[in-house]
Amino acid sequence: PIYIERGILKKLGDEIKKIYNNKKIAVVTDSIVEKLYADNVKETLEKSGFEVKIISFEAGEESKNVNTLLKVYDELLDFEIHRGNLIIALGGGVVGDLCGFAAATLFRGIPFVQIPTTILAQVDSSVGGKVAVDLKRGKNLIGNFYHPKAVFIDPDVLDTLSDKILSDGMAEVIKYGAIKDKDLFDSLMGFKDREELFKNIEKVIYTCCSIKKDVVEKDEKDTGERMLLNFGHTIGHAIEKIYNYKTYTHGEGVAIGMYAMTEYSEREGITEKGTAEKIKNILIKYNLPYEMPKVNRDDMLKAIKLDKKNIGKNMHIILLNRIGESFVKETSKEDFI
Ligand code: NAD
Repeated sequence: PIYIERGILKKLGDEIKKIYNNKKIAVVTDSIVEKLYADNVKETLEKSGFEVKIISFEAGEESKNVNTLLKVYDELLDFEIHRGNLIIALGGGVVGDLCGFAAATLFRGIPFVQIPTTILAQVDSSVGGKVAVDLKRGKNLIGNFYHPKAVFIDPDVLDTLSDKILSDGMAEVIKYGAIKDKDLFDSLMGFKDREELFKNIEKVIYTCCSIKKDVVEKDEKDTGERMLLNFGHTIGHAIEKIYNYKTYTHGEGVAIGMYAMTEYSEREGITEKGTAEKIKNILIKYNLPYEMPKVNRDDMLKAIKLDKKNIGKNMHIILLNRIGESFVKETSKEDFI
């Protein structure tokens, strides 16, 4: 179950009581979210009679590694957690992925709940069961499929997001519209500003989660329809990697990727005319880049080959027929480049 409700964080204790009847709860979070929300979460859980331990690590993608994971295992063991207890991931996609992986692997699995606090985590990473940490060789290389017991989404926590992190996550929201839902795409284009977006954010989150849920239910292990969710991601991941994850955020990479793919497929006569322009305009509106940086062909090929999704001779690319309609196409890496 996925609950989307403003203010749900304040009554989390009551909600958790409905799905968990043991005592201990470990809340895993990062240093920024801890300062903003951990005290409130601890308080509501304790009011409902739970024994709570907050486990926090330094915010940021650099923390999503095996060292942090080992520290989290240690703190969970210090708390004497066992299989009958509950772990809560409170934070963005980094916390959700790392905490989910810890929950999936410690004692071969402890139940966990996701409380996503970025727009990206609310519409994407908290749903679908993918959990992982990064290796030096690449992102998300060790992971698993492990679904949370429930996802609690409180849109109010998005108020504290910086414009930059909001824009970053909006790339994924735009992606859902582009691949599956023209109405969503059009309404995103129609919102005047952050305020108007936030007035409508529950509907936006609901729409995105429903799309992800439908796709994942048809293809959990990412061999068919789930690949549609990678629209713009092959180029996006490559750009992120080429620039050492320092110049472009994930959302920015995806934004550039969506535009580049659509511009190409429109030129090839595959995609309805005017679609690339629509993508460009919506990216500009949400302060996202669309222009491909000048990258070396060999660097691009190397980055694409390193992506775990592109193992073997051929790879899958996602193209649009038009806004709201997408399909998967198989191609060779050389042709893709
Ligand atoms: P993140 O978790 O690093 O969060 C971004 C920043 O926002 C962090 O500094 C965080 O501390 C801060 N933050 C979080 N919530 C906040 C709030 N409410 N107010 C203010 N600041 C807040 O990054 P992200 O963009 O949420 O997630 C990216 C990660 O998600 C990547 O590691 C990516 O691989 C992963 N991901 C996973 C899936 C999946 O299916 N599992 C899907 C997409 C992305």
